[in-house]
Amino acid sequence: MTDLTSLTLADAREGLTQKSFTALELTDAHLAAMEKARVLNAYVLETPEQARAQARAADATIAKGGAGPLAGIPLGIKDLFATTGVRATACSKILGNFIPQYESTVTSQLWRDGAVMLGKLNCDEFAMGSSNETSAFGPVINPWRRHYQAVDARPPDADNAKVGRIEFPELDDAKLVPGGSSGGSASAVAANLCLGATGTDTGGSIRQPAAFTGIVGIKPTYGRCSRWGIVAFASSLDQAGPFARTVRDTAILMRSMAGHDPKDTTSVDRPVPDYEAAIGKSVKGMKIGIPKEYRLDGMSGEIDKLWAQGADWLKAAGAELVEVSLPHTKYALPAYYVVAPAEASSNLARYDGVRYGARVNGRNIVEMYENTRAEGFGPEVRRRIMIGTYVLSAGYYDAYYLRAQKVRTLIKKDFEDVFAKGVHAILTPATPSAAFGIGEKGKADPIEMYLNDIFTVTVNMAGLPGIAVPAGMDGQGLPLGLQLIGRPFDEETLFSLGEVMEQSAGSFSAKKWWA
Ligand code: GLN
Repeated sequence: MTDLTSLTLADAREGLTQKSFTALELTDAHLAAMEKARVLNAYVLETPEQARAQARAADATIAKGGAGPLAGIPLGIKDLFATTGVRATACSKILGNFIPQYESTVTSQLWRDGAVMLGKLNCDEFAMGSSNETSAFGPVINPWRRHYQAVDARPPDADNAKVGRIEFPELDDAKLVPGGSSGGSASAVAANLCLGATGTDTGGSIRQPAAFTGIVGIKPTYGRCSRWGIVAFASSLDQAGPFARTVRDTAILMRSMAGHDPKDTTSVDRPVPDYEAAIGKSVKGMKIGIPKEYRLDGMSGEIDKLWAQGADWLKAAGAELVEVSLPHTKYALPAYYVVAPAEASSNLARYDGVRYGARVNGRNIVEMYENTRAEGFGPEVRRRIMIGTYVLSAGYYDAYYLRAQKVRTLIKKDFEDVFAKGVHAILTPATPSAAFGIGEKGKADPIEMYLNDIFTVTVNMAGLPGIAVPAGMDGQGLPLGLQLIGRPFDEETLFSLGEVMEQSAGSFSAKKWWA
């Protein structure tokens, strides 16, 4: 029998309809894979009982007919989503053992359509990070590993143990980050520990980890998915979206996740298209912009080559490539790291030791707040709260926060100008490098970590949709991704173009060393 965990979501859906296997068998196969892959630390909570109950219910509806579009499809859920009766922590100590009494709108739509929850996925604390190293549950491990360089490409080494390792096995044993903040989601999908997963993207947290793990991730237009029941980080930037191993699979998930929600006033009331119908649509005659400002000084030649190759693939499919200019790109990262912490500092004010989770007592209430927040938040979250409070304080508000908001308007206008010239989508690299090692970046200088978001934050600042698609490998055999940025609410074009790139790039999967 085929390994049920290696199916695409679309193939699993077909197999379930054809009754080639049951939803319970599909779920059990995933639960077994999760157990063997605990070393990756992708799940912070496994929910096997709930999963089996949902799978049995899906089998019953499939047998009766009239099953939902995701009936029996096992998914992982980022631990930023509220799930009724199931612990939600945002991977922070401060939420402690918080068990929500309510379900996020996005996840409730997935269950409405018949999906099965396998468990809650690790992420950076409050989704702040680019490597999943800020989680209170510890780092997630990328299922990919570097390959050693060819033996003769290395300088002679007297260390025999090392030489032995070079020849066999060929995988380096350094553990790599999966990217962040949705690192658990990316790692779980890439390691076949679910058929798809939810993520959130405030500055790149879906697209960057997708690129680091060789899978597909899309951040929809701001307002396309409801934010209700998702732990808030920076409310004007946060947006939920899916991860999966193929573009089609993300399109299938998007249809269930998207939609208007009266409980979130920023969610937009417009019909949800059948995104899957965009797969395989011709991209002939589409105009694709290549923004010259995304060609960074010192960017690796590999990324540059990959980018050119992506453009060639789209050209071969009939698209027209044009150079475009997004002149305010260089201000996006600094402006993001003012706006996002400002909103975070205000959103995180609610964790006061009274309303949620953990409390550390003090001699009086102020001391209780201080103790709780000092103990409950990790260093990166504390840093953001301090920056955010500072830029919002009287005297600095105009100089930092207001100015960053003005820059944000200019960034948005750059994109509007490009799209007004008839450009359908913009092609850029997804990340400036491949996945790096755990502990390798950001220790001495947090900005080194922030630079990971250089190609992704602009999209959040402008509220646009962006998809990351695996496109190639670096010299050490690690996956690299390309990003397509679309017009507001035109995710369909991204799916059509993304699938063209996917077909051209071929498939990617990590060598299974963990089980
Ligand atoms: N890495 C960015 C940050 O740390 C983006 C995170 C995200 O998109 N949630 O803010």
